[in-house]
Amino acid sequence: MDFKKIISHAKEYGFIFQSSEIYDGLSAVYDYGPNGVELKNNIKEYWWRSMVQRHDNIVGIDTAIFMHPQIWKASGHVDAFNDPLIDNKDSKKRYRADVLIEEYMDKLEAKVHKEVAKARKRFGEAFDQDVFVSTNERVVRYLTEKERIAKRLANAMRNGDLADMKTMIEELEIADPESGSRNWTDVRQFNLMFSTQLGNIAGEEGKLYLRPETAQGIFVNFLNVSKTSRQKLPFGIAQVGKAFRNEIVARQFIFRMREFEQMEMQYFIKPGTELEWYQYWKEMRLNWHKAVFPSEMLRYHDHDNLAHYANAAVDIQFQFPFGFKELEGIHSRTDFDLGSHQELSGRKMQYFDPEANESYVPYVVETSIGLDRMFLASMSFSLQEEMVPDAEGKESSRIVMKLNPCLAPIKCAVLPLVKNKPELTEKAKQLFDDIKFTTQVQYDEKDAIGRRYRRQDAIGTPYCITIDFDTLSDDTVTIRDRDSLAQERIPIHSVRDVLSSRIDFEGLLRQVG
Ligand code: ATP
Repeated sequence: MDFKKIISHAKEYGFIFQSSEIYDGLSAVYDYGPNGVELKNNIKEYWWRSMVQRHDNIVGIDTAIFMHPQIWKASGHVDAFNDPLIDNKDSKKRYRADVLIEEYMDKLEAKVHKEVAKARKRFGEAFDQDVFVSTNERVVRYLTEKERIAKRLANAMRNGDLADMKTMIEELEIADPESGSRNWTDVRQFNLMFSTQLGNIAGEEGKLYLRPETAQGIFVNFLNVSKTSRQKLPFGIAQVGKAFRNEIVARQFIFRMREFEQMEMQYFIKPGTELEWYQYWKEMRLNWHKAVFPSEMLRYHDHDNLAHYANAAVDIQFQFPFGFKELEGIHSRTDFDLGSHQELSGRKMQYFDPEANESYVPYVVETSIGLDRMFLASMSFSLQEEMVPDAEGKESSRIVMKLNPCLAPIKCAVLPLVKNKPELTEKAKQLFDDIKFTTQVQYDEKDAIGRRYRRQDAIGTPYCITIDFDTLSDDTVTIRDRDSLAQERIPIHSVRDVLSSRIDFEGLLRQVG
């Protein structure tokens, strides 16, 4: 669905509001509404249960947002957590230089897709995409050009070569996407950390940062957790929490926010086993996404620009309405973080390996996903507009969120057929009171039944239970399925069991593997 429609749907149905809206909003900061917070909590639960509950060697923690400022020195964030920034002198708009170049590459990729689609139409059944892509002159030219730019950008990013980024922008004749102007400033580094000041200590000494990632809270607690949880390597520590980044460009709704939430897991392992575990987590995390999204909306993207401490890194990209973009990162971080903390704090960040009879600084494989990005992926994939028959059998369009039932904000709506019949509403309220202890359920008696169904479709409620006049004589109700629209009659006393068998969290977790 069109991105603008997704954004307005998110607001209209209480999923996401602009922060501080009555004061005209605060850029790139958002609030979650009543349905949004339920969906967000369900995503968190899906992640937590498949990481912490399912793995007996992964434990969770919840660390503070404020940490000792030295931590950000050791982690490299003070010196190197920068984005290359460029300003347009005419429009006065600010951009990330690397993103401008990446968008140029996206355009080349879009051209390739267009050629492939045209050729597929022309050749029909006989079309062989691999052969076409490797032999068609125009396609080969686009792809070679894209690869050349990607390599040069990766080099420039790795070496902090800001001048070359500027040259690339000039050579590729990249214009300000909004004004079309090519009047650019030089590229400068911009540190993404927000800072604040402790009340009782003046100057640099009292300078604190809002954490730009949750991972460091895990690293600095490595000793505490390994001692108190009595875990042996390999083992993992997981955490969900807020992170803050002063993003230069924050335009794509909740895709890039200044305050957001991460779900991160650091897996501590014996040095030398990192590529094996990297492979394991790469597959495991893709499976987690595939259990709720179609595979064709997901792909791996190897990093062109490896951080100096990482020896392997891959993104899981999702097909957002604005193209394939990073949803999650899996990184093999070696002993960089623990090693740096050991050096700067003077405390030994080591593990005694009883089998090898030696101590060492463990290596780490990390999985890091943005909760808000996962939210956006879930909404943009599941929100659909389709034609369905209405009560009279006429085709009409409906907006429906085809969320996995385990993630849906409301699992079930209880609806008396009409509202001015106390026999029906009382029976409906009884059922509602009975199932509210086990399920996220909503009672709704306002408006015609068709409209109430549509309202539930729009927020992704997988099941609607209707209490009608037959219920009064035979104690059965109808259960309507959101996707197939099928309506079945079931005994009222079986509603709870039917719901729990169809909203199958255990099955979802087992599917991940
Ligand atoms: P990007 O290249 O998009 O800026 P990143 O590579 O800096 O992302 P990481 O530092 O690897 O991202 O962070 C891990 C995850 O946190 C990302 O995969 C993404 O889902 C999420 N994330 C990062 N920055 C933001 C943000 N500003 N808003 C929302 N989510 C974010």
